[in-house]
Amino acid sequence: MKIDNPKIIPKDAESRRKGSPVICYPTHALTNKNLELLISARSAMKKVKELLIPPRDATCFEIPAGCFFRICSVDGPQVGDLNLWSTHDLSEKFYSGKTRALHGTHLSTGDRMWSTFPFMRPLVTITHDTLDWYGWDTDGASVHDVIGTRCDPYTAKLLTNIDYHYCCHSNLTRALAKYCNISYGEAEAFVHDVLNVFMCTGFTHDTHQYFMKASPVRPGDYIEFYAEIDLIGGLSTCPGGDCSTEHSSDKAECYPLLVEFFSCQSPKLDLYPNSLPSEYSISHKD
Ligand SMILES: [Zn+2]
Repeated sequence: MKIDNPKIIPKDAESRRKGSPVICYPTHALTNKNLELLISARSAMKKVKELLIPPRDATCFEIPAGCFFRICSVDGPQVGDLNLWSTHDLSEKFYSGKTRALHGTHLSTGDRMWSTFPFMRPLVTITHDTLDWYGWDTDGASVHDVIGTRCDPYTAKLLTNIDYHYCCHSNLTRALAKYCNISYGEAEAFVHDVLNVFMCTGFTHDTHQYFMKASPVRPGDYIEFYAEIDLIGGLSTCPGGDCSTEHSSDKAECYPLLVEFFSCQSPKLDLYPNSLPSEYSISHKD
């Protein structure tokens, strides 16, 4: 909270506030010149598999490089928390903070989900989103944020003194432990800040606090990704349901989410470049 105390405001405060915003990371260099290849290859997609994630639960799944996958709303409005790891090294995982710095607070078609250092490469590219129409509402909210981390039992304990075991953080921990046959403790260290799929969020205009509101997602809506490398995906059906009231409890109405997997034999994908790790030397010296 910012302290509003006239006694500590310097005389030149106004002039100090007059600097113009400068985009921290100009992204011309990031423009995916091959996005059209992906978009046109979509016509050759063939569904090969699907997986239903029950309410208030999570599942991990394999996503081979070069395939498309969709997270679909079924039965009712439901928010999902998505984690991504490299199949070959769990320490290469989705980097929510850097993705936010590059693409903004909420993702949409054409944006990519970047991996952690020292890899820092695209894990997936978003190739279609039926909620792109939502844009930004008058509260400054939009969908699919990379600002809200994930609901977790530690914050729930801090704020309400309740032990709740079905937050997205715990759901993802259990799912990764089961998928990799490792302990909850080992798995928890790899669970990371998520893409809040279908969640509608923003920062309040006055206090700039993180807020959520009812997700506009409806059955039939989906967000679609192209896998740039071999991935393990983890998806939690948030106990907040559509996140119109509260999370970290059993109170909200919750629904499953469907994950659909598509192979694609389009020759256009042969022209699509491989996602390679950063070429930085990793020397950290002159
Ligand atoms: Zn959640």
